[in-house]
Amino acid sequence: MGKKIRNIIKIDKEKCTGCGKCVIECVEGALQIINGKAEVVKESYCDGLGACIGVCPEGALSIELREAEDTLYLSDRVWNSLFICGVSV
Ligand code: SF4
Repeated sequence: MGKKIRNIIKIDKEKCTGCGKCVIECVEGALQIINGKAEVVKESYCDGLGACIGVCPEGALSIELREAEDTLYLSDRVWNSLFICGVSV
């Protein structure tokens, strides 16, 4: 999978306490706790929509625009879900 400039989650390691709430919220499986901190373990699993941001009690998550592996999800699963739900984007 190639890289491109796109939105992807950014983790502030100074703020992260490793509570794991973002890992549970990320249904794509892009996040894991490693050495007590959240990490993006597979860039292509992050859809860049930021569902995890709202569950972080520390405000450690944000979205940044940078070069990353292209996402697997916006091209199929997410777009299919939006279509099924009748969302027009
Ligand atoms: S929810 Fe926030 S504090 Fe908890 S592991 Fe994720 S980034 Fe760290």
